[in-house]
Amino acid sequence: MVISRHVSGKFRNTRYLVEALLFLVYFTLPWLRMEGKPIILLDIPARNFYLLGSIYIPQEVYFLLLFLILMGLSLFFFTSLIGRVWCGWACPQTIFTDVFDIFGHLILRKKYGKKDAPVFRKVLLHIVWIVVSFVGAFHFIAYFNDAYDMQKDFLSLASHEYIYPYFILFFTATLYLDMTVVREQFCKLACPYARFQTILMDNHTYNVIYDHKRGEPRRNKKEKIGDCTACNMCLVVCPTGIDIREGTNVGCIACGKCVDACTIQMAKENKKTLIRYDSEDRVEKKNTKIKWIRPRTVLYGSLLLLISSLAVFLISTRVPLFINAQPDRNIAPMVIPGNKVRSFYNVKIRNMTYKEQNLKFEIDNNTTKLTPIHLLVGGENSVVKIPENSMMEVRVILETPNLPEEEKYRKVFKVWLKVSDMDNPRVYKRNELPILLPNG
Ligand code: SF4
Ligand code: SF4
Repeated sequence: MVISRHVSGKFRNTRYLVEALLFLVYFTLPWLRMEGKPIILLDIPARNFYLLGSIYIPQEVYFLLLFLILMGLSLFFFTSLIGRVWCGWACPQTIFTDVFDIFGHLILRKKYGKKDAPVFRKVLLHIVWIVVSFVGAFHFIAYFNDAYDMQKDFLSLASHEYIYPYFILFFTATLYLDMTVVREQFCKLACPYARFQTILMDNHTYNVIYDHKRGEPRRNKKEKIGDCTACNMCLVVCPTGIDIREGTNVGCIACGKCVDACTIQMAKENKKTLIRYDSEDRVEKKNTKIKWIRPRTVLYGSLLLLISSLAVFLISTRVPLFINAQPDRNIAPMVIPGNKVRSFYNVKIRNMTYKEQNLKFEIDNNTTKLTPIHLLVGGENSVVKIPENSMMEVRVILETPNLPEEEKYRKVFKVWLKVSDMDNPRVYKRNELPILLPNG
């Protein structure tokens, strides 16, 4: 495990600020409520996803697919433009590494990462790390299980849901072991994104780069040819333990710590840093401009814009009501007095709001020759009340005239069932109903 040396500087301090903001978001979101409901919660046992006052159900899994495509395209777009900005500035692995290091430097001071550190302080540090791991794991599970319920259970030492404490323990142990044993090895060996980042970047990508033209050959005791003083500060501050002077490396997470280290070193000689955010092309050919607009950035950017627009359109036109109507397999259509045919359907309705809905059932766009059609639903005047955030099954009965003589060869007609919220006419759904007629 690499314990990197602390360095102060523009990038290090800006990253602390960004990390503090992201931590604030991570730790605050599970506790926030909107009209008394969680602002974000992926309730897997109930198969509901709560987000910003809306309830999403498994039938809307295409939103998840869209979200994943958007995440993938954003990664492609931003990596081709500004390299591994995700790794260095927003990845939980990097942020937790920094938090663990902060406590390491605070408690062990200069002995952090050294074998001869006092045992008492070492034990204290590991206790603090376990607490940080627990808090991190607790909040991760709070995205899947109500944070306030968990808090109540923990304070009363009881649990309604006996499964989630085990998940918290599992993720506490995982985070602790990751930060104390695995750390940078995850970025170097296990992270799939690190593997394919090289194909997303080219020599115009804005990335952390060493100016080998100015720096090489490095100085030694005999010669002072290049600007690099071979102080190795860029190496000792690197959280993944790589040497940026050897070129772009799969282990580089673009955190910018080596930029700060070299800036301090070069300032002693009144020179500009040898390591900076720049493009390979600009290091090779001086005074060229960064090419932000390139075929790959245009392609990824256009796809990102297209899919984002589709997501915005689908979310803005989304109707918080689900219906699924199927013929009742247990009761066959029957001929009743008056030469009418009575057909039976089971209709599943799902209220995806936090308000009770008054749902009106009607036959919509009735173009069949079987008019008039009479609709019977459980509620009064074909109106059914469904409580907030709930599912209900309703029996719908259709009465239609029997077949006219010349139509006897036909067995199936179709009509549209329309279910609409009487308090909000924009909320409605339609479902095709097949009318299965007894054969003549
Ligand atoms: S080489 Fe520099 S930017 Fe890359 S991980 Fe190491 S310190 Fe961070
Ligand atoms: S910090 Fe700068 S001067 Fe020191 S070894 Fe690295 S590149 Fe050379």
